[in-house]
Amino acid sequence: MQKKIILYISILSSIILSCKQETPTVKHQSMGGSTSSQLKNIKVVNKIDPICNMEVEGFLQDTILYQTKTYGFCSTYCKDEFKKNPEQYVEK
Ligand SMILES: [Zn+2]
Repeated sequence: MQKKIILYISILSSIILSCKQETPTVKHQSMGGSTSSQLKNIKVVNKIDPICNMEVEGFLQDTILYQTKTYGFCSTYCKDEFKKNPEQYVEK
């Protein structure tokens, strides 16, 4: 009788242990978070987005290299607009 109880407990504890091992460890991985922080460290020649005239600092989403200078934009849309006609937006 006593032996049966001990066996039962050992089975129970092994189930609990295996359950603990199976518990998935949640890892918080911010996808793309590192990319945007990298962009913030890029030095751009313009403080103001030439397309929409908003401040680029802190809102930098995209950059383009034009005539050895890096220009920053608030969005890919603004970069595309700049690409269409760069001379119009570059300070002379
Ligand atoms: Zn913009």
